[in-house]
Formats: sequence, structure tokens, C-alpha cells
Amino acid sequence: MAALGKNLASDGAQRTTARACASHPPFVAKPYVLRRAWRGDSSVTELAYLSSAPAAYERAFTAKVVALPPGAVVLDRTLFYPAGGGQPADRGALSGSDGAKLDVVDVVKSGAVVVHRLRRGSRPALALGDEVRGELDWERRYGHMRLHTAQHLLSAVIYRRTGLKTRQATFGGGTGTIVVEGTWPNDATSETLGEALQACLEPPRGVKLRFLSRAEWTANPSARSGLVPLPPMVDPVRVIEIADIDACPCGGTHLASTGEVGEFSVEPPAAQAADATRIGFSLRTAVAHSARVTP
Ligand SMILES: [Zn+2]
Repeated sequence: MAALGKNLASDGAQRTTARACASHPPFVAKPYVLRRAWRGDSSVTELAYLSSAPAAYERAFTAKVVALPPGAVVLDRTLFYPAGGGQPADRGALSGSDGAKLDVVDVVKSGAVVVHRLRRGSRPALALGDEVRGELDWERRYGHMRLHTAQHLLSAVIYRRTGLKTRQATFGGGTGTIVVEGTWPNDATSETLGEALQACLEPPRGVKLRFLSRAEWTANPSARSGLVPLPPMVDPVRVIEIADIDACPCGGTHLASTGEVGEFSVEPPAAQAADATRIGFSLRTAVAHSARVTP
């Protein structure tokens, strides 16, 4: 375990790159205790959902098993988003050569690897090196993509209207919460905030993903970032851009267009503490989507 711990500690750059989001404090996963002998403690799980904007729409994949901790599977690559940065973990299923489906009930990042936790009592007929097929619970993931993109829009609207930066954001189950730094101005009403969010959605705008070098980012950071400083090892910086509205470092999964966000309700701002305000929001409608499926 000592060797594993050392390896995980040295991989901070990848961990924080995946998690960094100015809206959400960088996520630091608790080390997952591996009770079984670890073969190849230099293993890394490729976060395939991070690589491009279209990758967020891929919902099935193949990968190789690199570790089998009790009740869980570690793969060399994955499309499953591990919980962090305010976005809940994906769920879905893995299946090996026998075709039997293993339900994935939670996904966590542990250092350089992603641990897919299986439903209690699962007995996977898998061995190291086996190829498995993974499939996401797409309805759940797509809901998270809608909520996350709406959160970036709403955080941008709040910043433009009030100058308040988002301190923390969480979402799941069709609802989300943004906590902004500061008290809410008396002349900014929840009604205008909700209307402003919907106004951002017409006409639809592209949501783009850019990787900037740390130097490029430092030279020209976005207005809304900076409240949660990016750890120094984050390089390159993954930035989610919504044309003319927002740019924000983020390791989450997003829609390709604001046209897929749909209708949202925004709750009245409420005091969270002496120096913070809470704004809740929720999905109002289901949105049809045309996601491509691989493989
Ligand atoms: Zn984000």
C-alpha cells in the first residue's frame, strides 16, 4: 500500500486537472482501500469523457480490467464520471465476455484510477486483462449535463447582474444549488434572474471545450473564475466556453448547445450565511436529444 500511496500522491496533476472548476472546489477523493494485492500500481484510468465535447455524448465503451478491488472494478479507460466538483457519479453497467451485466452503483476517483463500485453481492466473473463493455445510465447522465450547463449559465447571469461569484455548486436528481459569495442585492429579484436564464437560451449557442496552457490561462483568466484558485499543477486548463456568456475551468460533462438546456425554474435567493446566498434551480421539462452511440 505504501507504493500505491506514493504513486497516487505523485499523480496530483491529473487528479486536479480532472476536477478543477472555478464553480466547484477541486475534488479530492478519499483513497479507496484496496485489500487485494495491487498489480501494476502505476495504473491510470483514462478519463475518456474529458477529451472532447462530443465525448460527453458517448454512452458505451470498451476497456480492459486493470484491478479488481472487493466489490469493484478498475478499468484502463472509462466514460463513467466519478463523483466530484458538484456533479454526481454516473451509474450504469459493465459486462464481460459472458454477457452478464454488473450494475455500477457508484463511481469514485482514487488517485490516478477510477473505481466502479458494483451492486452489493455482485460476483464478477472477470480477471485482470479482460475486456469489458461499459454502458452509462444515459437518462441520469444527460440530466446531469443539462443541470451542469444550466449552472454555468446561471452563475454567469448572477455574476453579470450582481458581481457575486459562485462559491459552490451541486446538482443531481433534476435539481441544483448554487452558493454565491456575498449577500443578495435588494434590487435583484428572483423573477428577473429566472427570466435572464431563459433569455440566455435563445438563440441557442454552442458550448465549446478548450484546453489552454497554464500560461495562456494565467495571462487571460475569465471574469467568473478566480474565487477558487486553480491548484498550481493544473496544466493544461480545461475551459468550458459558452459564446458571449461564460468561460469557466471545469472537469465536468456538458451539453454541446444551450438549445438542449430546456426550461428551468429558479428559486428566490435565500441567505445561506452572513456572507453567502443560496439559489436553487430545477429542470422543468424533459428534452429530446440525439446522442450518438459507440461502439
Ligand atoms: Zn463546472
